[in-house]
Amino acid sequence: MWAIIGTWRMALEGVKLASEILENGGDAGDGVETCIQYIEDFPYFKSVGYGGLPNENMEVELDSAYMDGTTFDFGACGAVKNVKNPISLARKLSTLDANNFLVGSGADAYARKNGFEIVNMLTDRAKIHYKNRIYEENKFKNKKELKPYLGHDTVGICALDSKNKIVAGTSTSGLFMKKAGRIGDSPVIGSGLYADSAVGAASATGLGEDLMKGCISYQIVVNMKNGMNPQDACQDAVKYLDDVLKKAKGKSGDLSVVAIDKYGNFGCATNIEGFSFVYASYNTPAQVYLTYNEAGITKYKLASQEWLDDYMNTRKAPLVKKYE
Ligand code: ASP
Repeated sequence: MWAIIGTWRMALEGVKLASEILENGGDAGDGVETCIQYIEDFPYFKSVGYGGLPNENMEVELDSAYMDGTTFDFGACGAVKNVKNPISLARKLSTLDANNFLVGSGADAYARKNGFEIVNMLTDRAKIHYKNRIYEENKFKNKKELKPYLGHDTVGICALDSKNKIVAGTSTSGLFMKKAGRIGDSPVIGSGLYADSAVGAASATGLGEDLMKGCISYQIVVNMKNGMNPQDACQDAVKYLDDVLKKAKGKSGDLSVVAIDKYGNFGCATNIEGFSFVYASYNTPAQVYLTYNEAGITKYKLASQEWLDDYMNTRKAPLVKKYE
């Protein structure tokens, strides 16, 4: 028995690659790393790895984490520049006895010293997005201070292998136009991801600043440990944090989560429209699901072929430069 779930449609091709590994009796960690590497390398996903959107200084800064639910080994990197595969760096850091979470120049230096591939992660498309945004900011708002924008998304993967090992991993370029050095929930254990092979795993995407306030991935795993199925565990955690934030501050950021339990059952929940995810298991092919909310409860359905075609066409459409 094996299963894998990933946030957003962008996980599809990677989940298919990981499915082959898991179907052949491979390791959940290899599945997660292979899956996320593919997504990091694909230039048209503008919120993960190569092609990710830059910070306010037009620098791509990447966050990633890896957690082994059997050993509880955890590794993460934050605000790394020009590391081709942050997930591989995070996995390597998870094997160390200390220094498991490195950020900024220290993480970059570690990657260089340890033979990780270094490439310029800023693509021409990402530059156009950045320059268009600056142009719009100047033209329409005339504000000097740049704000973080939508256009973020994290790939979060949870995988169970046939030896009952569960692993979770994340990778993201974080918020578009973020401050240099800003790190969200994605590389933070318990917030962006959590895995416990005796229970299950969860991963989150959305506004990191708010997701961290609920330690949401840990909360989902605890919910499952306390007997909830993955769907109820996700729903409960999202609703609770959404309610708490709205009560305290009058608003809540985007909160979307996925989870699997130790039997390979999955769950998802979100407080936004349009969250998608990918699930595959030993008896279910890799497919994209779209979520929708009915009376505050997250439901999901298979994505139509039209939606899937439109997704890739939109990602690859030529960009119009708004500036000179
Ligand atoms: N959670 C990520 C962050 O705040 C972004 C996202 O998943 O959309 O960096």
